[in-house]
Amino acid sequence: MPRYQNIVILTGAGLSAESGLATFRDKDGIWAKYDHSDVATPEGFARNPELVYEFYNMRRREGIKAEPNAAHQALATLQNKYDGNVHIVTQNIDNLHELAGASNVIHMHGEMAKAMCTHCEARSPWNENLSASLKCPECELIGGMRPNVVWFGEMPYRMDEIAAALASCDLFISIGTSGNVYPAAGFVAAATEVGAHTVELNLEPSDTASQFNDTHHGPATEVVPAYVGSLLKNCAVDA
Ligand code: NAD
Repeated sequence: MPRYQNIVILTGAGLSAESGLATFRDKDGIWAKYDHSDVATPEGFARNPELVYEFYNMRRREGIKAEPNAAHQALATLQNKYDGNVHIVTQNIDNLHELAGASNVIHMHGEMAKAMCTHCEARSPWNENLSASLKCPECELIGGMRPNVVWFGEMPYRMDEIAAALASCDLFISIGTSGNVYPAAGFVAAATEVGAHTVELNLEPSDTASQFNDTHHGPATEVVPAYVGSLLKNCAVDA
């Protein structure tokens, strides 16, 4: 295994599947039960805020019960021990990377343990149910609190930082994502453009699998620790 200097890791719902959190587009996934235009768009929120609050209140309650799995742990170990830069960019709104010990995670689609005030745009830690009657802890106005989640049609967070990390990466690893949702689905092309080695770790070939140099298919709790182990073998700071 070569010594990579700048690794970018993109994670998706498949990483947290074995922690008991549902994926989106799989057969029994979230979009099989809900129409994403009702619960994950600004228009859906304007039409029926109660449904959207309940959807994320349910997901927040499930998220609070979930624990990181062996794949989250392997990635945290990689970030803490690898002799090089390891950027973790996640589409997941759970906090399982952090609970596993990762210290620097970019949540491009937001975090369900935070609420956003539409009046003052403050993001506040939030572990309780959200509703329209709540007051923002920052500006104290009522009625503007919504999940701190990026909905379809909204701009993902921290795209400048992600673009900078991709522009200098020499290894790009995509884990547990179906390659359906842009801009994340385009990261493999951006990494390829700068000459990075690209690897997909997923249960099955994703829609963008043919764009990767290397693919390993199987459950995240198996393929991720195995791949991370091979990276750390020669390149750990204190292994
Ligand atoms: P997805 O459900 O589309 O894909 C999950 C992938 O994980 C699949 O390819 C599947 O084969 C794989 N997988 C399933 N179990 C696995 C396992 N045990 N090990 C390894 N892989 C496994 O999820 P995604 O790609 O993360 O979806 C893209 C993003 O769309 C989501 O992360 C979500 O953030 C996003 N999105 C959601 C909302 C919302 O809910 N509000 C809004 C906008 C965008």
